[in-house]
Amino acid sequence: SNANLFTTLRAAFPTDLDAIAIECADQHGPDGLALSYSWRDLERGTAMLANLFVSLELPAGSRIAAHTDKSVEALMLYLAVLRAGYVYLPLNNAYQAAELDYFIKNAEPALLVCAGKNFGWVSKLAFQAGTAYVFTLNDDRSGTLLDRAATLSDQHEPAHKEPNELAAILYTSGTTGRSKGAMLSHGNLRSNALTLKDLWDWKPGDVLIHALPIFHVHGLFVASHGALLNGSKMIWFARFDPHAVIARFAVASVFMGVPTLYVRMLAEATLTPQACANMRLFISGSAPLLLDTFEDWQTRSGHTILERYGMSETLMLTSNPCRGLDGERIGGTVGPALPGVDVRVSRDDGASCATGEIGNIEVRGPNVFSGYWRMPEKTQEEFTADAWFKTGDVGRKDENGYFTIVGRAKDLIITGGYNVYPAEIEAYLNEMDGVLESAVVGVPHPDFGEAVIASVVARPGATLDGDALIATLKRQIAGFKVPKQVFVVADLPRNAMGKVQKNLLRQQHQQGFK
Ligand code: ATP
Ligand code: MG
Repeated sequence: SNANLFTTLRAAFPTDLDAIAIECADQHGPDGLALSYSWRDLERGTAMLANLFVSLELPAGSRIAAHTDKSVEALMLYLAVLRAGYVYLPLNNAYQAAELDYFIKNAEPALLVCAGKNFGWVSKLAFQAGTAYVFTLNDDRSGTLLDRAATLSDQHEPAHKEPNELAAILYTSGTTGRSKGAMLSHGNLRSNALTLKDLWDWKPGDVLIHALPIFHVHGLFVASHGALLNGSKMIWFARFDPHAVIARFAVASVFMGVPTLYVRMLAEATLTPQACANMRLFISGSAPLLLDTFEDWQTRSGHTILERYGMSETLMLTSNPCRGLDGERIGGTVGPALPGVDVRVSRDDGASCATGEIGNIEVRGPNVFSGYWRMPEKTQEEFTADAWFKTGDVGRKDENGYFTIVGRAKDLIITGGYNVYPAEIEAYLNEMDGVLESAVVGVPHPDFGEAVIASVVARPGATLDGDALIATLKRQIAGFKVPKQVFVVADLPRNAMGKVQKNLLRQQHQQGFK
């Protein structure tokens, strides 16, 4: 049998290939009508693109890179790369020349697809790095990629793949340092997709609102595979628009978002239980969901968000329960390990942590990647002697098997010999009147090694005083945990996935105590 992920997804297409597979919410055709794509369009479009790659006679294992705006054709490009048996390499479309240069030199794609408006500088970088072909794809379906594929056959037999063969290289978000290319196989992607289909109880008639970027695990794999594997229609947003998304809740049932998307929807007056009455499931991940957001969403929508946890290297690892009989969704936790996935908490010396004890999260399972692209040493460092992957996240497991992520090992602060977990201090700050959100980091300090500092954002209309927040914290927690300085800022630096970039905060305050 063929372990090509495309074969598994294709087998899930409904028998009526003329049914709508993807309906665009914010992209229109020349006739002014909303664009929509049938399952047959996906079948034919991916076959034609796969035939283009075959006709170019790219060597086996070639990387095909995408630096494009979000569009249904860009999704088809991904599916066609799987279908033809090459390795898909999505790149954040916000990346500029210096960033792209690193990825292209590191990954050496044989073929690259970019937006027409960027062709000049992108193709220059690519040709210098030995890329043979650069095609363009615009969000209005123009460009050389589709032009070249248009004359080719719409029949294509998916390439034969073994489960351990490479399907994609996903660069990590670069939150803690330089992005690394996680090598994911057809087997990794397939096992995780099948597990989530079952666990999240995908049902006939489910409709997914797809409003995430497709260069990252969340939008490309978790969301798209979920809908495709269930033969479910997607309502496709090229750009997230909180008001327009809420308006579509009436005709959808599943939504996936990063926490910032939920925060932005909470600011809309149209978010009501009535507007969400047709919805079955709201899922959050990629960054910690604040307890405030979790609770506000319950009140405002009548639904309890299901929070899950994962990363580029491992796909999804844990999830709060979906069906009521599997247990309760608990805010502030990321739920138990997924079926078939092993998750453990270890001390720095490798010994297991007791229930409730904070330690390093390590994982193992059919979803875990084989290593970082062209970084054998880094790969070796990140696996334990008994072959578990060290996630770099720190957390604990409770008596019911639910995990709580308290932060990243790299963000742990050691001040005067004491460990401080930023998430604990942030939780206290976020509880205070007038505080919208906060970020706690450690910066060099001549006496303590590191000093705790915080950046806080005020709620709209509130005024905050850093020293007053420090005084309040001193009454609540041990002195060594209290930030030495609290900066009131307009917003926290975030990357495209809504993750707070603590490295930037550390850089900014590097000299603060010198
Ligand atoms: P880099 O590895 O380059 O520093 P990154 O870790 O942010 O970047 P991703 O693979 O996109 O890159 O993100 C995975 C990380 O996101 C996890 O290791 C974890 O820290 C965080 N994360 C994901 N889901 C959750 C969640 N539900 N709660 C808390 N953190 C989460
Ligand atoms: Mg990471």
